[in-house]
Amino acid sequence: MDYHGRQTRLQGSLASHRLDGLLVTHLPNLRYLCGFTGSAGALLITEHKSIFFTDGRYTEQARNEVQGARVIIARKAPLAAAGEWLARNARKLRLKTLGIEAEHLTVAERSRLAKSLSAGVRLREAPPLVEQARMVKDAEEIESLRAAVLLGSSLFEVAIRTIRPGVKEVEVAAEMEYAARLAGAEAMSFETIIASGPRSALPHGRASQARIPAQGFVVCDFGVILASYCSDMTRTVHVGQPSTEARRIYQAVRDAQEAGVAAVSAGVSVGKVDAASRNLLRKNGLAKYFTHSTGHGVGLEVHEQPRIAAAQKDSLGPGTVITIEPGVYIPGTGGVRIEDMVVVTEVGCEVLTPTSKELIVI
Ligand code: ZN
Ligand code: ZN
Repeated sequence: MDYHGRQTRLQGSLASHRLDGLLVTHLPNLRYLCGFTGSAGALLITEHKSIFFTDGRYTEQARNEVQGARVIIARKAPLAAAGEWLARNARKLRLKTLGIEAEHLTVAERSRLAKSLSAGVRLREAPPLVEQARMVKDAEEIESLRAAVLLGSSLFEVAIRTIRPGVKEVEVAAEMEYAARLAGAEAMSFETIIASGPRSALPHGRASQARIPAQGFVVCDFGVILASYCSDMTRTVHVGQPSTEARRIYQAVRDAQEAGVAAVSAGVSVGKVDAASRNLLRKNGLAKYFTHSTGHGVGLEVHEQPRIAAAQKDSLGPGTVITIEPGVYIPGTGGVRIEDMVVVTEVGCEVLTPTSKELIVI
């Protein structure tokens, strides 16, 4: 990974945001900028310097992993160590305005940091500079995502082998998660969703102790983390013979998902992609049951920028990896969601998820 290039680009952008430095504390941003995979660290980026602070537990790991930055192993928490270091060095560096990642710092951390700094330095909430850089994946990241997607999609076969009337939702999730770990996944990228029968109308129906009924949809939404990169996919199967209405709803969601995928291309606004899926459901009289956004970025985090939603104005750039996942949720009855990951190209997109979208009847 090109950690040096990532840090250099960030350093080059500080001045245009009127920042003399940025203190990066969000762990996925640390992973992205310098390779650190531990759970405690802070990276101070100034125009000419990159300094990584961690504590004694990570001495070895930081030496092995961190690239492009000087490593300081501190006796204190990394944030406190960074604050003290700045108190000693800010004047020499002419550092007056320090950006913080407001979304990822607690109020207590912010006030402790402010107290430790010398009087001449003020803190400012920085725009999400690293998150914006992370939106566009380089070739190596896309290969990592591709591998995570393939491992993730192999778990759907485990799901359809396990889903039977009377089996608990958690049993399905457990089989999938066991298979994921054996296949090399570091973890699931979020809590596996297995939502059966009327529970399939819950967009985030985490696998529960409920038993799969003899008749109805089962929404399976799951993903893995492989080599730090996440996958995310949803397929919905039907247990028992689906009614004509159930087939109609499934087909409408599938058409909406495919319309969303077809709308993806470099330069297209995310709002337009959302509208493509939503309009298809509107034509089928189902738009009011589609209660979430159409998709989201995926990378080091399972939910990252951009959001594929109505009010959003961002345009897609080549190399951005997003999900397209419309759904229909009819309270008390059931729901359907279909989700693929795609990578944006100049002329459209490539669907990464290899799994068929034909309705599977169990
Ligand atoms: Zn998902
Ligand atoms: Zn998703």
